[in-house]
Amino acid sequence: MNFNITHIISNCKGVFHGNSTDFDASHISIDSRSLQNGNNTLFFAIKGQNHDAHLYLEELIAKGVRYFVVEYIPEHLYDKANFIIVENTLVALHKVAIAYRNKFDFPFVGITGSNGKTIVKEWLNFLLSPNHLIVRNPKSYNSQVGVPLSILGIEGNYDLGIFEAGISLPNEMLQLEQIIQPTYGILTNIGLSHDEGFANREAKIKEKIRLFENCSDVFLEQNQAIENLLPKEIKKHTWSFTDENAMLFVTQKYTNGSTELSFKTKETIFSILSPFSETNAIENIITCVNFMLFLGEDISFIQKRVTELYPVELRLQAKKGINNCLIVDDSYSLDYQSLKIALDFLEQQKLHDKKTIILSDIFSGGIPTAQLYSDIKSILSKHKINRIITIGETIGKQLTDLPNVIPFATTQEFLQQFNTQSFQNETILVKGARGFNFHEIVVVLEEKNHETILEINLDAISHNLHFYKSKLKPETKMMVMVKAFGYGNGGYEIAKVLEHQKVAYLGVAFADEGIELRKAGITTPIMVLNPENSSFRAMIAYNLEPEIYSITGLQAFLKITQQQNISNYPIHLKLDTGMHRLGFEPHQISELCVLLKNNNFVKVKSVFSHLAGSDDKNLDAFTQLQFQRYDAMLLELEKVISPKPIRHILNTSGIFNYPEKQMEMVRLGIGLYGIGNSEQELQALENVSTLKTIISQIRTVAPEESIGYSRKFKVTHKMQVATIPIGYADGIRRAWGNEKGYVLIQNQKATILGSVCMDMMMVDVTEINCHPGDEVIVFGKNLKVTEIATAIDTIPYEILTGISQRVKRIFYKN
Ligand SMILES: *Cc1c(COP(=O)(O)O)cnc(C)c1O
Repeated sequence: MNFNITHIISNCKGVFHGNSTDFDASHISIDSRSLQNGNNTLFFAIKGQNHDAHLYLEELIAKGVRYFVVEYIPEHLYDKANFIIVENTLVALHKVAIAYRNKFDFPFVGITGSNGKTIVKEWLNFLLSPNHLIVRNPKSYNSQVGVPLSILGIEGNYDLGIFEAGISLPNEMLQLEQIIQPTYGILTNIGLSHDEGFANREAKIKEKIRLFENCSDVFLEQNQAIENLLPKEIKKHTWSFTDENAMLFVTQKYTNGSTELSFKTKETIFSILSPFSETNAIENIITCVNFMLFLGEDISFIQKRVTELYPVELRLQAKKGINNCLIVDDSYSLDYQSLKIALDFLEQQKLHDKKTIILSDIFSGGIPTAQLYSDIKSILSKHKINRIITIGETIGKQLTDLPNVIPFATTQEFLQQFNTQSFQNETILVKGARGFNFHEIVVVLEEKNHETILEINLDAISHNLHFYKSKLKPETKMMVMVKAFGYGNGGYEIAKVLEHQKVAYLGVAFADEGIELRKAGITTPIMVLNPENSSFRAMIAYNLEPEIYSITGLQAFLKITQQQNISNYPIHLKLDTGMHRLGFEPHQISELCVLLKNNNFVKVKSVFSHLAGSDDKNLDAFTQLQFQRYDAMLLELEKVISPKPIRHILNTSGIFNYPEKQMEMVRLGIGLYGIGNSEQELQALENVSTLKTIISQIRTVAPEESIGYSRKFKVTHKMQVATIPIGYADGIRRAWGNEKGYVLIQNQKATILGSVCMDMMMVDVTEINCHPGDEVIVFGKNLKVTEIATAIDTIPYEILTGISQRVKRIFYKN
């Protein structure tokens, strides 16, 4: 496809700034990371809630992109590329997509609803593909960005477009309607998902069906209320399970392990064997059949194609298990059809010859029990399963005559009697009906490389960064402190996120930390807070910028720059305004000025100080005094420093409490990691780190016994006690033990009993239904580090940075 720049400018009513409009783009992109063919791309710089693509323009220009649609041109890029300036780049993308859509005159189908949009789209595509050339949105690209990009990706000859549209906020559907311009509309199941943005259910339905405003025909389950909301002139093709007079009346019957659907229209009666029995799947099949009848597809063709439908969400997952086993996890649904699919899948995973299946009672869906289980027996024998573990009253009785069956009455009974050593080098299919909680079995069978982990949510890091940014002027720079291994959370991974978010500076405590980041490929400027004179050479080699806080330090650094014949090396001056930790004092400023005057070896990048009590309004008078001292010292320094240095004094709480003192830069620390020093701040932040472990063992302890070292906890009544493999060597404070603290198991409090040991601690699970292997939360969203810190009279900084390096960090994005 070709997008002529002159046309694009007129489509989105943009103002052009650049050399030449004589250009046809072959690609449209909005994501700097997935850019492929730079110099043929037209890039739309879209601003989202937590994201501004204008920040990546320089990078994109370096990758060869020459044409951009933007809301503004960053000053330094004015002459570096061609820009189309618009008010809103998302709206511009929509306008361009609409113009492109207008080139096609084959019919488009617009699908919306709460559930089943993607499935109906994929199924219709499969069902109709022998007779039609279909274009559709990939995966579930159904949003304000996904739909226009899908439309702009149409290339080639088609006779039918099938596009799904999803919305999360009011007023979004009108946009999607204009882009898709559906001829036909399909409404799938209207459930309750994404209700938050809408006043009520009716408002939501009204918004959704705006997709159909210009359709000639709409397909939906009979529902008078919804039909009344649709324009009169639209022809409604309704189906119903209950109204015999509906245009398509459907009945269902379960026989021989399948669901048979009978359809009745004015003209004809026919039936189809459905490969699925779940209600949602049945409704989606009917929706497809309804539309296929409208298109005039042959009944025999429809019947044949429907029986060949496949599950769109491939729920089966293969996971690494204990003792070199492979687990096929299908722990949440079970009927005959899905068992067949799962057994085929098991066959494909030819990792081991030995096969075990763990199977619960099976949903019969109306089929006589004896018949159902005789079918099951025959497919189990066909697949040559070595061992069949059954859980449930019915299945245990029904399969007794198979030689290799081990029956249990309940999941709990299985878990209690289960011996991990009995599973070795085999493939295990875990398949249970919903009520049987088979996910608990999967948890036990899964290989656990690291029982204790600190999980770090990188999306929450971005969210928190943007929260503090929103408190600042857009031009204020941000230095983010990643000292002490990112406050205990992990240095490199977090620095990478921050680099992508374009923070101006990273701050580390020691040169070594900065060197690690450079070795890992971080290129953002890095300031070292506490450089030792012995590390100056290494810092220069790794392009790290020292904080200079003393005359002797400056002299030592100058000597090295002189020796190495370096000029203008960036340094940062630290002033002591009342913290009395590091920094120049007022009486040293004149000597400092003499050293700096006309000195070309170093360049003072910034002058800063640190507040002692920015989190505490009771210390406001002192904080104001620190500001005054800073200003006075700076006045003198500025006489010898040019250009003017970047000024900064605020840490996290400072940003929150004294935004008027942001000057040119702030230094964000703890807030990034989701910890605010006030309740109000805490509310706005997202939890970043979760410390998790698992239960190693559970025992019953009798009265008169005691728990742990020095018999600190005396048992007074019979208790269930769980041992968890985390202790003070991992960073759990002993002060948090002896019933002061707790952990969360099944989201319930389990009090720590006795003293915290070096590598373990014991908790009370008398009232909690749990098992060895179950997850234990030591801190996280529902048990905040701040709560622990307050209880044991310390600060969250100490707890976070105290989590030992032997605890494995795992980073994830949603
Ligand atoms: C650690 C540190 C910060 C960040 O402080 P937070 O309270 O974590 O925001 C800022 N400046 C200096 C000099 C620091 O040492």
